[in-house]
Amino acid sequence: MDQIKIENLEVYAAHGVFQEETREGQMFLVDVILNTDLRPAGIADELTLSTHYGEVCQAINVYLREHTFQLIEAAAEHLAEELLMQFPLVDSVVLELKKPHAPIKLPFSNVSVRIERGWKKVYLGIGSNMGDRRKFLEQGISGLKENARIRKVKCSEVIETKPYGGVEQENFYNAAVELQTLLPPGELLSFLHQLEAKAGRERKVHWGPRTLDLDILFYQDFVSGDPVLTVPHPDMANRAFVLEPLNELCPWYLHPVTGKSVRQMLEELKKQCGSEEESEKGKKTPSGQL
Ligand code: ATP
Ligand code: CA
Ligand code: CA
Repeated sequence: MDQIKIENLEVYAAHGVFQEETREGQMFLVDVILNTDLRPAGIADELTLSTHYGEVCQAINVYLREHTFQLIEAAAEHLAEELLMQFPLVDSVVLELKKPHAPIKLPFSNVSVRIERGWKKVYLGIGSNMGDRRKFLEQGISGLKENARIRKVKCSEVIETKPYGGVEQENFYNAAVELQTLLPPGELLSFLHQLEAKAGRERKVHWGPRTLDLDILFYQDFVSGDPVLTVPHPDMANRAFVLEPLNELCPWYLHPVTGKSVRQMLEELKKQCGSEEESEKGKKTPSGQL
């Protein structure tokens, strides 16, 4: 990816654990790499198609002066997030925050932290089979859109599907959602649980009725076998109610473990289930899009 680089930007600010540091302040140096597509600005020779590095420097200066953190870890973490939210063309940042005058009573030239943070592409499965199913799906989507660390939320059409897993219950409304987020996988899962709780979700029967279910299907190319968060979702290849809406959003998206595209998984599932699957795959609800 193309980059804009800023090196050794000097900012006088007041971060530190000791009283003298927060009272008197000291010089910090900031290195930033902004990963961003420079082609449009390069072709058109037009600043509005790029990220203005002068504005980035000002933003860093203002943010570090207006906030006080004990740790450079915290200052870097919050600053990286601020830059990603303020400058929408930037996909990720590498940020090094240096504190050359840190209170260390030994000779040294510099101490710093260096972090990389960015927007991650995520696909979710969303479902409901209790009460006003459409309202619960809408509520879930609105909750995602209201989170400042989530952007570019896009929803597939809603399909109505038969319940999965053998528990006798109402039909589901299901959809898939594409988004970008700054939340790491575990924090995203906690946020999804909050949205489910807001919708009054209770976990009584495994695979039982629910007002709102939000599952992480893909989190960029992240892979985890942890039962608390298994990604990609381990059962996706067996679920037409997941693959059908996902296929609408991202047919060519590749499963990071099997290397199969969403379309391929769906076609294989249809073949495997034959005519039985055809009747189970769900039909579009009359009102379609959320
Ligand atoms: P399934 O995951 O088979 O669709 P479910 O959605 O009915 O089943 P829940 O009761 O909603 O299951 O979730 C049980 C637990 O599954 C959650 O508390 C969560 O920790 C864990 N989990 C593991 N992987 C994921 C994932 N990819 N997305 C959401 N939850 C997950
Ligand atoms: Ca689920
Ligand atoms: Ca779930």
